[in-house]
Amino acid sequence: MNIDFLIIGQGLAGSLLAWELIARGCTVFIIDNGNENASQVAAGLINPITGMRFVKAADIDYLLPAAKQSYQQLANFFQQDFFIEKPMLRRFGSETEYNNAQKRLLEPAYQPYLGRLHKTQHKTGYFTAPQGFIEQKQTGYLLTQPLLNCLKDFFIAKSCYRQTCFNAEAIQFAPTLQWQDIKPKQIIFCEGYHAKQNPWFSWLPFQLAKGEILTLEHAHDLPDNLLNYGNWLIPLNSRHLRIGATFDHKHINININITEQAKTELLNALTLINADFAKANCIKQQANIRPCTLDKHPFIGRHPHHQQLAIFNGFGAKGSLQIPWYSKQFAHALLNHSPIPANIERYYATHFLG
Ligand SMILES: Cc1cc2nc3c(=O)[nH]c(=O)nc-3n(C[C@H](O)[C@H](O)[C@H](O)COP(=O)(O)OP(=O)(O)OC[C@H]3O[C@@H](n4cnc5c(N)ncnc54)[C@H](O)[C@@H]3O)c2cc1C
Repeated sequence: MNIDFLIIGQGLAGSLLAWELIARGCTVFIIDNGNENASQVAAGLINPITGMRFVKAADIDYLLPAAKQSYQQLANFFQQDFFIEKPMLRRFGSETEYNNAQKRLLEPAYQPYLGRLHKTQHKTGYFTAPQGFIEQKQTGYLLTQPLLNCLKDFFIAKSCYRQTCFNAEAIQFAPTLQWQDIKPKQIIFCEGYHAKQNPWFSWLPFQLAKGEILTLEHAHDLPDNLLNYGNWLIPLNSRHLRIGATFDHKHINININITEQAKTELLNALTLINADFAKANCIKQQANIRPCTLDKHPFIGRHPHHQQLAIFNGFGAKGSLQIPWYSKQFAHALLNHSPIPANIERYYATHFLG
C-alpha cells in the first residue's frame, strides 16, 4: 500500500493532524494500539487566563480562534457539538490574587477574557469564596472522547485505520520506506507519552506528568459554570461533575494506575470549598500521562538523520487549545516545505547524540 503519510497514534494530535492532511488531499493511514490514552482521559479544558498572576498566554490570541474554528468545523461535519463553551468562576485563594485580578481588569488585552469581579466575603450557594472570585470568559471544554470516536469511525470508513501496535524498530528504510505492507513517503509519530520508548525520538527532553481525574454523582443541582479553585470542576449535567486534576512529575515510571492518594487529595480540596460535596459519590477515577516538555513548547519536526521520520507531540496539559492550530500549521509545512512551528531543531545540538 503506497501512501503519503503513516500516522502513529490516534489521540487528539494524530487524529487532528490526519484530518488536516486528508482535507488537503493527502493519502493517510493511522495506526493505534487501541488503549485508553491521555486525550480520552483529559478534561479538555480551555482556559486563556491562568496562574496566581492571571497571565494571558502570549499565543492565546491565535490558538483560541483556531481551536474554536476547528471544533466548529468538526461539529458541522459530524452533526454534534464537541467544544462546550461555558464561563468559569475563578475563586481567589488569597487577597493577593484578588488584587492581581483587579489590576488585570484595567488592561485592555484582558477584557475579552475577564468578566465581573466579586468582592471578598461574597457568598454563593455553590461554593465559599472568602476572598471573592472573578468571572472568566471564553473558557470551555472539549468532549474529546466523542470526538475521537467520530474520527475513528471516519478513518475506518475511509479504510485508513488499523488497530495494532507499531514497532518502530521494524521500519525498513531501503529500497523505500516501509513498515509491514505499508509504504509511506513519511511516518509521523503522534504517540503522546509513549514517545519516551520510541527509538528515534526518545532523546527529546520530555517532562511527563501523570494526572488523575474523578467523575462524581451529586444529589443537588449544580450551577452551569466551570469552577476553578486551584483544581477545577466541570458540571457535565445537573447531577454529574468531573474534578481534577493531580499533577505528578515524580511517580511516572510509565505507570497509569489510579491511586487512593490522588482520590483523597481531589475530594479534600472539593469539600473545602463546599462541605456538601462530601456526600457526592465517586463513580469513576481515571489516570494517564501528559506529554509535557522541558521548555513547555510542543515537539514538532523531523528526525536529524532520517528526514522521512517526524514527530508531532509535546502538547503537555494544553492539547485541546494547541493541537488544532499546530496541526494546521504542520500540515501546511509538510506540504509546502515552509517553516515548522515549535521545531525540534532547537534540540539537535544539545540533546541528539547521533
Ligand atoms: C488527567 C489529565 C487531565 C488533562 N486535562 C487536560 C485539559 O483539561 N485540557 C487540555 O487541553 N489537556 C489536558 N490534558 C492533556 C491532554 O490529554 C494532552 O495534551 C493530549 O491529549 C495529548 O494528545 P496526544 O495525541 O499527543 O497523546 P495521546 O492522547 O496519549 O495519544 C497517543 C496515542 O498513540 C498511541 N500509541 C502510542 N505509541 C503507539 C504505538 N507504538 N503503536 C500504536 N499506538 C501507539 C496511544 O495508545 C494513544 O492512543 C490532560 C491530561 C491528563 C492525563
